[in-house]
Amino acid sequence: PETGAPPCVIVTGAARGIGRAIAELYTERGARVLSVDLTLPPPLRGQRRIRADISTASGRERIGRAARELGGVNVLVNNAAFQGAHGSVLEVSERGWARTLSVNLTAPLLLTRALIDLMPHGSTVVNVASVQGLFAEQNNAAYNASKGGLVNLTRAMALDLASHGIRVNAVAPGAISTEGVLQAIQDSSDPVNTRRDYEDLHALRRLGAPREVAQVVYFLGSDESSFMTGAIVPVDGGMTASFMMAGRPV
Ligand code: NAD
Repeated sequence: PETGAPPCVIVTGAARGIGRAIAELYTERGARVLSVDLTLPPPLRGQRRIRADISTASGRERIGRAARELGGVNVLVNNAAFQGAHGSVLEVSERGWARTLSVNLTAPLLLTRALIDLMPHGSTVVNVASVQGLFAEQNNAAYNASKGGLVNLTRAMALDLASHGIRVNAVAPGAISTEGVLQAIQDSSDPVNTRRDYEDLHALRRLGAPREVAQVVYFLGSDESSFMTGAIVPVDGGMTASFMMAGRPV
């Protein structure tokens, strides 16, 4: 994009949750946004939106074509994730494991590669990792491994893309009040206590809002963070400040 033009931003997984909040924040602040998801994301004030599976070559090509029409990419937000393969290291299915790694780890690498020629000097990539990429949770082996991989992929990308003038950083959110998390709380046998348990994982004793993650993504994607690359920024209300569940009294 020409200098002075509003930045072009691609957000994957933008139909709902944190991705939607990121696309909304960029829209409010005047960026041109391309929202990508498995199903067509809801409209956002004249912004472009497409249906694409980031884990397929054809999906990534479709994103590349739309990005070219947009005039290039200044910020790529790798946010989409598959969170459906629960289970311990003894239980997780090979299929679930493969899908999780493909969407959460391999696709951010391959999508970045597919778009690199459209990203001018000064562009940024922001990967949405998780506190579960820094520490593990029981019975969630595939997701833990995928986000741990994405954390170190972020560092590798930062090193390898520095010579292209591209900075790469990641956020590691705690529990965020997305549709998915709120639904999981509702579906539990004791929603009130389940919600409190989630809240108590954080020093701030509450869930984060999708917008609170979006604000940090925005910062990492902007020139305000011009000396940051390869950083993993927790957005977790203090969850990882403690080695014992945010210092909950025991
Ligand atoms: P979500 O499941 O509500 O939304 C993710 C979106 O990604 C969905 O709309 C889904 O359709 C899309 N998606 C999945 N696979 C895709 C694919 N192959 N191609 C294109 N789109 C695809 O997730 P969320 O809770 O908003 O989380 C967003 C990101 O934040 C994820 O990377 C997640 O791992 C991370 N995260 C979330 C939380 C949380 O508490 N919600 C905490 C830590 C990290």
